[in-house]
Amino acid sequence: MAETHRTRLLIIGAGPAGYTAAIYAARAGLAPMVVAGMQPGGQLTITTDVENYPGFAEAIQGPWLMDQMQKQAEHVGAKVMFDLVTAIDLSRRPFRATCDSGDVFEAEAVVIATGAQAKWLGIPGEKELGGFGVSACATCDGFFYRGKDVAVIGGGNSATEEALYLSNLARHVTLVHRRDSLRSEKILQQRLFAKPNVTVLWDTITEEVLADASGRVPVARGLALRHARTSERSELKVDGVFVAIGHAPATALFQGQVGMDAEGYIVTVPGSTRTSVPGVFAAGDVQDRIYRQAVTAAGTGCMAALEAEKFLAAADAETEQVAA
Ligand code: NAP
Repeated sequence: MAETHRTRLLIIGAGPAGYTAAIYAARAGLAPMVVAGMQPGGQLTITTDVENYPGFAEAIQGPWLMDQMQKQAEHVGAKVMFDLVTAIDLSRRPFRATCDSGDVFEAEAVVIATGAQAKWLGIPGEKELGGFGVSACATCDGFFYRGKDVAVIGGGNSATEEALYLSNLARHVTLVHRRDSLRSEKILQQRLFAKPNVTVLWDTITEEVLADASGRVPVARGLALRHARTSERSELKVDGVFVAIGHAPATALFQGQVGMDAEGYIVTVPGSTRTSVPGVFAAGDVQDRIYRQAVTAAGTGCMAALEAEKFLAAADAETEQVAA
């Protein structure tokens, strides 16, 4: 039967930002509730080796790290609910969130940590070879392609930055772009064109990620390409493929309720996680279009919990004053 849960702090999303907010809030005595959403654990659950989350000398597995964060949050007193928020009312306190199960959460403060997702091309081979030669994060996975040949797909700031980052690790980087000019900042373009080990394939559509199925598991071996103007087909042999065609923050639920930028990222007050709604905080990729790392998400999750705690203490003091 559907239940109504009352909580001081509702955390929506269970990636590094949500779990870190939960750990800090629980330790501050707020007994937070986390609604984990569609992909509990977030983007790290679809990566394999993680070598850049501090504290682990050996590579760890993304799903394992997220499992540990969940256990840590629960261990200190957070309640994690495997449900999906489908509607929310942030117009008055207590804020009210309705879930897929029918359960309702009434919360005095909310941390939005619903994350963002890389956009994918939707071509054959891309999904099947995810984590086996196909990635959407050079900072996360570039290290595995040291001395190898890689391709980056896209023509914006992300693609140009990913290509630049990879040019310092890989033997050769091919940037595959569907048009004849990049939309990235000129300074990034200049840096890219100055790299001796970077080639740009202009007017080129990526049609398929090709697999080498000769080993234990299929891995990417290249790309099937088509020229946008001549329709001429070709193949590019690479060991790794980085898709960098943008990210989409998971903010549809909050549209029209908290301030967002043109691309749907939640706007926070600089240097904080405060949103346009007092008592609503945003942490992690949902408000970060630049860094998008597990460790930065965790950092802003911590900030959100500390700020929520401060907000609730001030609200309590106000209520006591009114009562006195
Ligand atoms: P973006 O600017 O939207 O660029 C996406 C790129 O992917 C475009 O070149 C686009 O091609 C291409 N693309 C989109 N769909 C495609 C498809 N189906 N097939 C092939 N190519 C496709 O995304 P972004 O580079 O991630 O940047 C997003 C925002 O974050 C931007 O505002 C950007 O400035 C910002 N950002 C800033 C920094 C920084 O300041 N250092 C770093 C990263 C991102 P077309 O060009 O043909 O449309």
